[in-house]
Amino acid sequence: WPTKRTYWRNRQVFVRHYPTPKPNALPPFSSLPQVKIEQMLLDACKKAGVEFAWNTPVSKVKTTPDGVTVTTESEQDWTAQYVIGADGSRSTVRHALDIPMEGSRSKNSYIVVDVAEDEEHPLPLERVFYYDHPGVGRDVLFVPFVGGWRVDLQCREDDNLDAYSGIEGVRQWLPKVMDAKYVDRITWVSTYQFLQVVARNFTDTNGRVLLVGEAAHLFAPFGARGMNSGIADAVAATNAIDTALSATDAKVAHEAIEEFARIRRSAAEYNRDAAKQALAHVQKRSPIMQVKRNIAALIAPYWERAGVWLDSGPYGPRSGPTGQSAGKY
Ligand SMILES: Cc1cc2nc3c(=O)[nH]c(=O)nc-3n(C[C@H](O)[C@H](O)[C@H](O)COP(=O)(O)OP(=O)(O)OC[C@H]3O[C@@H](n4cnc5c(N)ncnc54)[C@H](O)[C@@H]3O)c2cc1C
Repeated sequence: WPTKRTYWRNRQVFVRHYPTPKPNALPPFSSLPQVKIEQMLLDACKKAGVEFAWNTPVSKVKTTPDGVTVTTESEQDWTAQYVIGADGSRSTVRHALDIPMEGSRSKNSYIVVDVAEDEEHPLPLERVFYYDHPGVGRDVLFVPFVGGWRVDLQCREDDNLDAYSGIEGVRQWLPKVMDAKYVDRITWVSTYQFLQVVARNFTDTNGRVLLVGEAAHLFAPFGARGMNSGIADAVAATNAIDTALSATDAKVAHEAIEEFARIRRSAAEYNRDAAKQALAHVQKRSPIMQVKRNIAALIAPYWERAGVWLDSGPYGPRSGPTGQSAGKY
């Protein structure tokens, strides 16, 4: 999208327009739904010759100093020298290795609603964030996606969730933040309480399983560090396994895996803290943050940096962990 805006209630405190990108260049911002990204990843894997064993969930994992045995629900055993555990937030692999998650959970809930665009009368392509939207008295984020909009309502800690999250609840509040026609265009509703957790270790005691993505960490999505850092984990894991497999010395091989675990865990802690900063900005729990936000909103018309701060706060710091070969995440 070429424009982003931030409002303080009904008053605009920040706007930035980006020039139209050159043909074949990436736009300044773009949001891809998860299904599209998964399709792209699947196509890339197939092209690289990855073989898939669909509908064969892993149920057990055992490691020894020499390798890994993965057992599926059909009691079939698969053996390998190394395994990457990428089985998401409820990771069976992580549980089998008895590696706990450490961290906290956000107290308030977030409701995410996808609506299809009215292609004949589309809204302008703008990412818009409202502090205390005048229609609902809560923060609301609108993000254009291919073919529609994602509307993110940030509930208060004491909100009765059922009143907002059920389809009837959404039908009540959605027309207060966008044209009523979108009520009949709802395609998906989901409610989240965000975990901010990192696995105690990203590998097992034998250094044979490498945890990546949400099997290893869960962050609030502010700052878009979840999948992005999962990809950085996966790159680091494959590089570590490549080094380990080509090493002639077992100690060098083990050190490559340990280094992966150390570096990616430290990156995950950084990413969790970055998401935490963004959470602190949008939550109204700290009186100091409330005062800072109020002052910034007051002076934004006279001092641009106050508006920039209000606009960027919900996404956390832009910087990335140090010492990472995989970039910002
Ligand atoms: C509202 C919201 C918005 C987000 N926005 C962003 C964003 O803008 N940018 C960003 O980078 N991230 C974002 N994220 C985070 C991102 O969606 C996740 O970090 C990412 O999808 C995690 O990928 P994953 O592959 O680790 O796990 P998953 O996507 O959960 O994949 C795990 C896979 O493992 C399989 N599996 C599970 N158990 C087993 C088993 N026992 N055996 C075999 N297979 C198994 C599952 O079927 C699944 O295919 C967002 C998250 C939320 C909730």
